Amino acid sequence: MRYDDTKKILVTGGAGFLGSHLCERLLADGHEVLCVDNFYTGTRRNIAHLLGNPRFEILRHDVTFPLYVEVDEIYNLACPASPVHYQFDPVQTTKTSVIGAINMLGLAKRLRIKVFQASTSEVYGDPEVHPQVEEYVGHVNPIGFRSCYDEGKRCAETLFFDYRRQHNLPIKVVRIFNTYGPRMHPNDGRVVSNLIMQALRGDEITLYGDGEQTRSFCYVSDLIEGFVRLMDSGPEVTGPINIGNPNEFTIRDLAHMVIELTDSRSRITHRPLPPDDPRQRRPDIGKAKALLDWEPTVQLREGLERTIAYFRTTL
Ligand code: NAD
Ligand code: UDP
Ligand code: UDP
Repeated sequence: MRYDDTKKILVTGGAGFLGSHLCERLLADGHEVLCVDNFYTGTRRNIAHLLGNPRFEILRHDVTFPLYVEVDEIYNLACPASPVHYQFDPVQTTKTSVIGAINMLGLAKRLRIKVFQASTSEVYGDPEVHPQVEEYVGHVNPIGFRSCYDEGKRCAETLFFDYRRQHNLPIKVVRIFNTYGPRMHPNDGRVVSNLIMQALRGDEITLYGDGEQTRSFCYVSDLIEGFVRLMDSGPEVTGPINIGNPNEFTIRDLAHMVIELTDSRSRITHRPLPPDDPRQRRPDIGKAKALLDWEPTVQLREGLERTIAYFRTTL
């Protein structure tokens, strides 16, 4: 803690989609923010509006290398998140998750501070338990195209819990379910950004497989509220804790909603389902409700309207 009670908070992956919203929120709460990013998928544009703030600082750095700084809390978000990006250089993806986690845990251990890990619903793989509860140990292929991400994130969770058991480190692990909103990468291949960009450009809307697979979409401001509540919770609350919106939609429903909200004349076309694509996904958020008094407030239609408005400005 500084002499004036302002916390200095490290956000790795701070120039990415979620990281930029988190930096913005922490600054609004009066903290100092050190944003660390190697700009692999993140951009300076995402944080351009924060650069004039004297409490905001950026460091270009790759978390797979050690980092010696003095801070009061760490949020570890660095890792490409969309399948297109994390499969582009899969070895680097595993290194970022695993070595990045070791370095951030080592930093937290030296400073005796709280460290937060952005884990993912992908740790459940293609789930056989529905909705997914935190106790479910998952159904993950260790050698497939998604494994660099899924297994990397699983190993990161292992490291977090071992640092807690072995070094009594205060940890906070969140399992993030599909999140969308302004500043998503327009070309990252994720379904919300893809469908909106296709609809706005009048291109064909690509449904993979039969479009009957499901996802549950959380609006970014709801997710960030969950992050901050988890970080500020008592030391007994370590997670892993699911944060996501429990309203489940088929990808086909989503496509129809995007077409309607953009007033688009695009037509739907089918493409092959990518390998290991989970059939269904929906968080059980009972723990987040009970322990953090958290639940989402922005529903899909409203969140899509805000996201569409953002993507229009990028065209
Ligand atoms: P993003 O790709 O927009 O952001 C990731 C950021 O990490 C980028 O700014 C990137 O440049 C940076 N980065 C990547 N490798 C790095 C490295 N080695 N060193 C330093 N910086 C590095 O993705 P996002 O959607 O903002 O995801 C943020 C975190 O949340 C990730 O850890 C991701 O796994 C997790 N997550 C996101 C979602 C989602 O729906 N968006 C779902 C589950 C989990
Ligand atoms: N580390 C870091 N910053 C620090 C302290 C440690 O990046 O302020 C890195 C360090 O390079 C090490 C890793 O974190 O590889 C794990 O640290 P830990 O102390 O757990 O392990 P050790 O140094 O004993 O291998
Ligand atoms: N998807 C789709 N069309 C697209 C992009 C994705 O039908 O243009 C599907 C994809 O096959 C998956 C779902 O939408 O079933 C969510 O995909 P995304 O990559 O956004 O996230 P994840 O699979 O990691 O949940």
